[in-house]
Amino acid sequence: MSCHLNLTITQPLPAPPFWNLHRPLLGGEALALLASMFFVLVCNRQFWAAAFAGRSAADAGSWFFAFGMLVALVGIHTLLVAPFISRWTAKPLLSVLIVATAFATYYMESFSVYLDPGMVRNVLATESKESRDLLVWGMASHLALNAGLPLVVLWVIRLKRLPLARALGFRAAFLIGTLTITVAAVALVYQDLSSLMRNHKEVRYLITPANFLYSTARALSSVDTGAVKSRMEIGGDAHLAGSWQARKKPVLFLMVVGETVRAANWGLDGYARQTTPQLKQLGVINFSDVASCGTDTETSVPCMFSAIGRRDYDEDRIRRSESLLHVLRRAGFDVIWRDNNTGCKGVCAGFREDRVDRLPAADLCEEGVCFDEALLKGIDSLLKDRSGNLFIVLHQVGNHGPAYFNRYPSAFRRFTPTCDTSELRACTREEIVNTYDNAILYTDHFLARAVDFLASKEAEYTTAMLYVSDHGESLGEAGLYLHGIPYAIAPTVQKQVPMVMWFSSGFLRSFGLDERCLRRQASLPVSHDNVFHSVLGMLEIQTSVLDPSLDLSRSCRKG
Ligand SMILES: [Zn+2]
Repeated sequence: MSCHLNLTITQPLPAPPFWNLHRPLLGGEALALLASMFFVLVCNRQFWAAAFAGRSAADAGSWFFAFGMLVALVGIHTLLVAPFISRWTAKPLLSVLIVATAFATYYMESFSVYLDPGMVRNVLATESKESRDLLVWGMASHLALNAGLPLVVLWVIRLKRLPLARALGFRAAFLIGTLTITVAAVALVYQDLSSLMRNHKEVRYLITPANFLYSTARALSSVDTGAVKSRMEIGGDAHLAGSWQARKKPVLFLMVVGETVRAANWGLDGYARQTTPQLKQLGVINFSDVASCGTDTETSVPCMFSAIGRRDYDEDRIRRSESLLHVLRRAGFDVIWRDNNTGCKGVCAGFREDRVDRLPAADLCEEGVCFDEALLKGIDSLLKDRSGNLFIVLHQVGNHGPAYFNRYPSAFRRFTPTCDTSELRACTREEIVNTYDNAILYTDHFLARAVDFLASKEAEYTTAMLYVSDHGESLGEAGLYLHGIPYAIAPTVQKQVPMVMWFSSGFLRSFGLDERCLRRQASLPVSHDNVFHSVLGMLEIQTSVLDPSLDLSRSCRKG
């Protein structure tokens, strides 16, 4: 009787389909380990190259270091991935990670960038119309190879089923074991590793995908535009100096924030090509030695509007503090931000911000991408029904890469041949530089139109303009493209930027500025740190937050 029953329940289950028998069966731990080995060995070519630069393969120490680093990195990635692996989450999660990693390695290898929090913040802030510039054919083949193949392998694998209690126990033991081995591996190569990190701290941002997982978490957690509820007040005592009582006309000040224009290609800074013919004609005051605060928009824009600057750089403090614009408002200026870029990065929080792609400028915009002259379209209307002092910021798209060819109308295609694709690798250096220089020609033209506008308002306003670029750009020097290299190791071309001032004669007279003195001043080394203090100084706004030693106009003011 019992024998019969036993026979019934041990009846074999129906055989699995034939093709399932041939699919490898793995535990979650083995899958986490396999994925980590794939990441470390296949997706970290740049890290390995940087970590072993200058080491000899004949040296046994190199092999020892390589082995220790390999174990440590596989261990770290396994520890990152394994806690999230279950029968239900493993495949979707690893799929996302594999695809994101393939995007990251494409970006890193194409442009030699480091995925630190600043870079990730940039990528996150880059709007879809700009990301479209990056979606090119080279990327498709890179993705097929680096994401397509591993995805096929991942989805072919079958995952073992274990009772929950056993699975949890096994997972815990696995994590403890991995942690122990990782710590031991780090200890073994500690001396080498610490000297690598001391001398080339930035290589840790080449370790993929740990770099973008870490950087994305940092970028999302740090305060951005919307997240800051109340900002630390600065210049609470700001007011117009007594000399203002003698002025009959209000001031109209235009500040143009440039994008990705580097000093090395700026005609007025002595570049072999005249890329700034119109500004030269206008006789603007050109500052020829200007250091940017950062090497990307997300760093430089908040920094140049802050009282803190690069000398005491503290990103959190800058993002939590009020900007130059708040101080100007306190002194009675109306402030308007017009944007043809990716927004004001929190600088204009609480102010009117006009996005040009939402303004009517049909002939200057296509598919939501506008030439910078759209910033001037209808700017007259901002002056209507106003009588007081006005400070307008124009935030250009400038020379934003890699689609330099999209930044200027065809009339400015003067240096040829050009690189009419975002895929810079498909172009020669000459083509890339030509295209970049054409975009500067257009900025030159745009700034000249801005001066025309100011000149046309001189009957009602006392007018002036300040132009400064946010950071520079690499155009293939040392194999680097674009920008965003960590500041400490960034090449000069990413850190030296043009800066220009234009004053109406009425402004020079009214504010007692000595133009010849300013021109002399303009050849001295200055930086974004001077912007905040010089704008307040030139406009004779008094406040305790103004540091006179950083005010470029101070020694050139008469009387
Ligand atoms: Zn920028």
